[in-house]
Amino acid sequence: LPKRLQGSTPSVWNEYIALAMQYKPLNLGQGFPDDAAPEYVTQSLVDIGKDENPLLHQYTRGYGHVRLVQALSKLYCGLVGRELNPLSDILITSGAYEALYSTIMGHVDVGDEVIIIEPFFDCYEPMVKMAGGVPRFIPLKVKKTEGPISSADWILDDAELEGLFNSKTKMIILNTPHNPIGKVFNRKELERIAELCRKWNVLCVSDEVYEWLVFDGAEHIRICTLPGMWERTITLGSAGKTFSVTGWKIGWAYGPAQLIRNLQMVHQNSVYTCPTPLQEGVARSFEKELERLGQPECYFLSLPRELKQKRDFMAKFLSDAGMRPTIPQGGYFMLADWSPVADKVDLSSEPDKQRDYKFTKWMTKNKGLQGIPPSAFYSEPNKHLGEDFVRYCFIKKQENLDKAAELLSQWK
Ligand code: PMP
Ligand code: GLN
Repeated sequence: LPKRLQGSTPSVWNEYIALAMQYKPLNLGQGFPDDAAPEYVTQSLVDIGKDENPLLHQYTRGYGHVRLVQALSKLYCGLVGRELNPLSDILITSGAYEALYSTIMGHVDVGDEVIIIEPFFDCYEPMVKMAGGVPRFIPLKVKKTEGPISSADWILDDAELEGLFNSKTKMIILNTPHNPIGKVFNRKELERIAELCRKWNVLCVSDEVYEWLVFDGAEHIRICTLPGMWERTITLGSAGKTFSVTGWKIGWAYGPAQLIRNLQMVHQNSVYTCPTPLQEGVARSFEKELERLGQPECYFLSLPRELKQKRDFMAKFLSDAGMRPTIPQGGYFMLADWSPVADKVDLSSEPDKQRDYKFTKWMTKNKGLQGIPPSAFYSEPNKHLGEDFVRYCFIKKQENLDKAAELLSQWK
């Protein structure tokens, strides 16, 4: 095994998708919508299939299909308040996953330190290690002990954060709205991170795949818009999350040309170019939404409106079942503390090390309900911080959420 792969193990996704295939539970695990995407989005692929332009089925520009980078440039120009050159400031990738990979591989050198906020989307850590970088972790912690808990109650310790920055720090990876907590970082929190990035000349990678999914008036703030941050931020997005088509695996990175250039090199030497019909479909879908941006029927507003109902429904049935959910301000996941119901489960037959792995596997096998163990989103020394929790996904058909509620209400 080459050195860069030593210690790698199959990710939680590979393990839990296999588990779901074996036990066929009601799957609130991996994050994807189980309902139809907007009609015009899927219809775009039908139209592309019938289009008389045969080149829509051939290779397209390696750094991104021109119609798509143009649509993204138009969209983000309005959102970040500056011109984006579609050819140099945006890279189209194979999902936000590859955008993360190209960013990390393109900027992290052997021995560079990368600050990762825990819990984190699980691939950040192995990607940093693969690049030869050194991850440095800092956990979000709940400071509140009583009453309902919001994702806003999960906060970073300021002194701890400041203490992580040093002359070896190359990058910090931020994720807002956050997976799995649902935290939407507020302006003050982002300003503090920005201040430290400027002080230590650190790059900020901002994973904003859930940028449209915010509730209760929470505001999604793009850190690249804060003073002095454009030149040091690479922002990532996902068509899968934006249009509810996670299987399309089209993502992007945007930022200043001199930072995006490194990503282009990794991309051209690994993926080269993403599927043309899918990029064309995403471009047409953005063009449609650009026409009605900010209007109530715009999908970027109608989806979070719909999702908020599902979030509230899930929070209620988890609370009714005795668990303690954290109410997310954004994204489509909910963390719940299951320790109050620990006496209802018998985990002795599950060999895993972490209690949340035992719990989620037991639930899949015995109650037919699957969630994700959050300790997968922590570094080894901090995995205990995730063990009392389970992550459920609420971007599911109402009938499936009803079934989950029913399963839990019958659980004695
Ligand atoms: N970042 C976060 C925080 C995610 O939850 C996901 C999950 N899809 C990704 C990146 C990867 O996105 P994509 O599916 O576009 O590769
Ligand atoms: N982002 C999704 C989740 O967190 C999907 C995970 C993945 O694609 N690996 O469940």
